Amino acid sequence: MEPRMNAEASRRCIYPGCERPAVPAHPLGGPQPSFCDLEAHNALSAHLERQRLEAADRTTKEVDDGR
Ligand SMILES: [Zn+2]
Repeated sequence: MEPRMNAEASRRCIYPGCERPAVPAHPLGGPQPSFCDLEAHNALSAHLERQRLEAADRTTKEVDDGR
C-alpha cells in the first residue's frame, strides 16, 4: 500500500493563486476551512480577487482588440 496523505493535509487554499495548504479543521469538529492561515484569504476576499482577475483579463483583451 502506498502511503497517502490524509484529506486534511491535501486540502489547499482556494484563494486565486494561493498554493498554501488550507488550515486544518477545528479539533472540536466542523467543516475544514477552504483557506490558508492568511487573514487576507477568506471567502469574501477570494471572491473579490476572482472578480478583479476577471476584470483585468477583460481589460487586457479590450486593449488588444482596440487596435
Ligand atoms: Zn491562501
